[in-house]
Amino acid sequence: MTVNQEIDDILRRAADGGRISADEALLLYTEAPFHALGEAADAVRRRRYPDNIVTYLIDRNINYTNVCVTACKFCAFYRAPKHREGWTHPTEEILRRCGEAVELGATQVMLQGGHHPDYGVEYYEALFGAVKAAYPQLVIHSIGPSEIMHMARVSAVSIEDAVVRIQAAGLDSIAGAGAEMLPERPRRAIAPLKESGERWLEVMEVAHRHGLESTATMMMGTGETNAERIEHLRMIRDVQDRTGGFRAFIPWTYQPENNHLKGRTQATTLEYLRLIAVARLFFENVAHLQASWLTTGKDAGQLALHMGVDDLGSIMLEENVISSAGARHRSNLQELIGMIRTADRIPAQRDTRYRRMAVHRTPAEDPTDVRVVSHFSSIALPGGGAGRQLPLVDAGTTSE
Ligand code: SF4
Repeated sequence: MTVNQEIDDILRRAADGGRISADEALLLYTEAPFHALGEAADAVRRRRYPDNIVTYLIDRNINYTNVCVTACKFCAFYRAPKHREGWTHPTEEILRRCGEAVELGATQVMLQGGHHPDYGVEYYEALFGAVKAAYPQLVIHSIGPSEIMHMARVSAVSIEDAVVRIQAAGLDSIAGAGAEMLPERPRRAIAPLKESGERWLEVMEVAHRHGLESTATMMMGTGETNAERIEHLRMIRDVQDRTGGFRAFIPWTYQPENNHLKGRTQATTLEYLRLIAVARLFFENVAHLQASWLTTGKDAGQLALHMGVDDLGSIMLEENVISSAGARHRSNLQELIGMIRTADRIPAQRDTRYRRMAVHRTPAEDPTDVRVVSHFSSIALPGGGAGRQLPLVDAGTTSE
């Protein structure tokens, strides 16, 4: 069999919903014709979602502190303990931001922060409990395995105890943060103090066993090989076979500003789109695939809708972590819906569990709230922008 025949066979099997191996996924990633790859991935999307709906979410990423002891080399957000630009937000400030988010129609908050040396399980119990008490309608989709390991270490409790306690306090699901690259070599190169990829997945397994579902992410473009990118997918799929707890896979591209990895090559748009398509074909056991318009730009985000993607993520009423490293793409509700519609898909607002809340079958059904706009870079403001109302930064100070 020639390589071309082999690729055709793999694409056909994957498009029909069959399982492909990691070696086959690597062959597709590196050798498959771009158009055929996208067609096969889109066939999977159409079979999974024959109603042609692409979803989006309204949420706010709220950071409780930028103080962190883990010093990942790719991270532009953190400040070491005692750094003069380090800040922590009191609960009142976090609740104020939650209140603004609710006012603008957000259904979810993503509470993210550094590994503060004093923040154990008790801190997170109090934080999640306070948010739930004030805004019971907000879904807390937050933190990741790294934070869980850190808080368990600070409080000297087991991972399981930490998971059970923060779930009881109000955590609804776990964000896939901190996955970066899971294979050992690239992970050590960019985050030497972070837990191993295996440990990251073990914590996810514990959470999934306790009914805390999650998403899984991947940051591509910090010098990893093609084989390591596919290995990252394989590690996630193996866990998913056991737990079924990953709701979605969300790859995004490394942003190169203001960190210690300057000079490394970012993933190209083509590499990103190929990875998206291969992920749709490889993850026959993961329901949803999300495009990251924040890091790749809106054009690539819309192209991803033709490569198997069924979700365009969030407006992000506030985002500081990735935008600190250079992501400058902004959007608003009308534009995000327009991206979906002009890709010949039907837009629908979803909740954290991917349940459709409102399907906009015609433009007449589109929401009209012009205040729902992404806002970035409160990290650049003294004290993390405490007390500032949305927009934290004027629209004119960030480019498209
Ligand atoms: S990525 Fe997270 S853990 Fe790593 S330095 Fe940044 S805030 Fe800390």
